[in-house]
Amino acid sequence: MTRHDAVVVGAGPNGLAAANRLVDAGWSVLLLEAQPEVGGAVRSDRELDPDFVHDTFSAFYPLAAASRGLAAFGLEEHGLAWRHAPAVLGHPLPDGRWAVLHRDRQVTARLMEEQHPGDGVAWLDLCAVWDRIGEPLVSALVSSFPPIWPGLSVLARLPGAGGLDLVKTLLTPATELGRRGFGGDGAGLLIAGNAGHADLPLDAPGSGVFGLLLTMLGQTVGFPVPEGGAGRLAQALARRLESRGGEIRCDAEVEHVIVEHGRAVGVVTADGRRYDAGRAVVADVSATHLFGGLVGPAHLPARVTRGMRHFQLDPGTVKVDWALDGPVPWASPPPYDPGTFHVGDSVSEMTEALGQVAAGVIPAKPFLLAGQMTTSDPTRSPAGTESMWAYTHVPQPDQTVRDAGEGGVRGLWDDSDCERFADRVQARIERLAPGFGSRIRARRILGPRELEARNANLVGGAINGGTAQLHQQLFLRPVPGLLGRPETGVRGLYLGSASAHPGGGVHGAPGLNAARAALLHHRLRRFHR
Ligand SMILES: Cc1cc2nc3c(=O)[nH]c(=O)nc-3n(C[C@H](O)[C@H](O)[C@H](O)COP(=O)(O)OP(=O)(O)OC[C@H]3O[C@@H](n4cnc5c(N)ncnc54)[C@H](O)[C@@H]3O)c2cc1C
Repeated sequence: MTRHDAVVVGAGPNGLAAANRLVDAGWSVLLLEAQPEVGGAVRSDRELDPDFVHDTFSAFYPLAAASRGLAAFGLEEHGLAWRHAPAVLGHPLPDGRWAVLHRDRQVTARLMEEQHPGDGVAWLDLCAVWDRIGEPLVSALVSSFPPIWPGLSVLARLPGAGGLDLVKTLLTPATELGRRGFGGDGAGLLIAGNAGHADLPLDAPGSGVFGLLLTMLGQTVGFPVPEGGAGRLAQALARRLESRGGEIRCDAEVEHVIVEHGRAVGVVTADGRRYDAGRAVVADVSATHLFGGLVGPAHLPARVTRGMRHFQLDPGTVKVDWALDGPVPWASPPPYDPGTFHVGDSVSEMTEALGQVAAGVIPAKPFLLAGQMTTSDPTRSPAGTESMWAYTHVPQPDQTVRDAGEGGVRGLWDDSDCERFADRVQARIERLAPGFGSRIRARRILGPRELEARNANLVGGAINGGTAQLHQQLFLRPVPGLLGRPETGVRGLYLGSASAHPGGGVHGAPGLNAARAALLHHRLRRFHR
């Protein structure tokens, strides 16, 4: 048995962020991770080819780059270096045109202007609005509820940023947003494609603000990648934690949280070891596992058990990685090589594909998010080659109704389903880049089951810890009774994973919010003694 002030369960970016925040406050912290290495969905590997680094899950980190909480850790001193592709994001169209987001807004505007006169100025106007409101808006969205100070700051700046017109713009669905003030389709493709990173229907309110947020982060901080692989970000967090006395144990799956007299006092791992926590247990664990197994139902308040009956996961995911012998042979090369690119012939095709997923249908023309990693960071593979991936969403395995495509994918996501669906994904790229298939040195497919096997938080391939739709956001996340706060209804136990507000993405906010709540409660307990 060991005793620490805090035990953090799960070494994803949120668990690592929480643990760092707690050691900074002088607490003794033990971080327990089920997998053989830290990082959660922020890891890299050389499984396809020893000369190629592939990011096993996530790859681009605008949210991390914009996070004040992560910036405060000074991760550059612990080995993190950011790299940027020549362009942030590209969206190729079958007619050879590209929508391109460049980190220099003047370049983005020039490219838009070339496609439709007037769109360049409209883009710069949109950027100017974001300059006024973006920072407080992001702060308000990532703070614990209620976000009093950042909320007031947003309200104070609202009149200068467009007032109620801006509120209406932010509530406009992504499908419409790109049409407001733009004659060409470039802005709309960029915003809708970015909205497609969450599982919000593109024609529903909430998709517009999410698409705009990611697009404007791309415009202001870029979509950076850690030099050497995504795992370097997690390793920098882990190194910093250990340099300050924090302890990390891998291959240590927590089986349950010990609750005594209504208070979480420690955890037990699969090998039967007990680890005591004098002040807090922070769970970087999906809500489904924390409230559906790690904590016995007898210890949970009725409002949590009730809320979890209606907890909704986000869709499943299929990710395909390729080691390419050469660069992607675009039929029509982009004006600047993008790190991230999206594949969808139009906003309406993307809307249809994401709508199908929501309806339990495997899309015939899946909307792809893809990354050219060597283009983003030349250290990822030998010169002249490309380390590449694409992923797309599919219905949760138990919710698949049918396949809209011709391959007869059943939604079981066994090897056969994964191979046939990966061929469909690959054909989408081949159409835009004839000869793509002939450059493949190695391919790997991570279907929903394989993703979950590599990280228990990715339940059924859900990458965001629960749907990002409005009915499970803000004070409704993860369940209405918890009011968007990290408290769980069990004293001393905090939910610090992407299942908590503000949800998925690598920004550390759920972990930092959980650590902050634990520190505050500890201070209050001491005060009342
Ligand atoms: C394929 C994919 C692509 C993505 N792309 C991006 C991207 O490009 N940019 C971006 O910002 N976000 C991206 N995301 C989302 C982002 O990676 C996640 O939202 C983020 O990693 C969530 O962090 P977390 O710490 O909450 O959980 P995770 O990163 O999932 O980590 C949870 C950790 O907890 C461990 N764990 C779980 N249960 C236990 C237990 N009982 N005992 C011990 N350990 C346990 C797991 O093994 C895991 O290591 C992507 C995700 C996926 C899967």
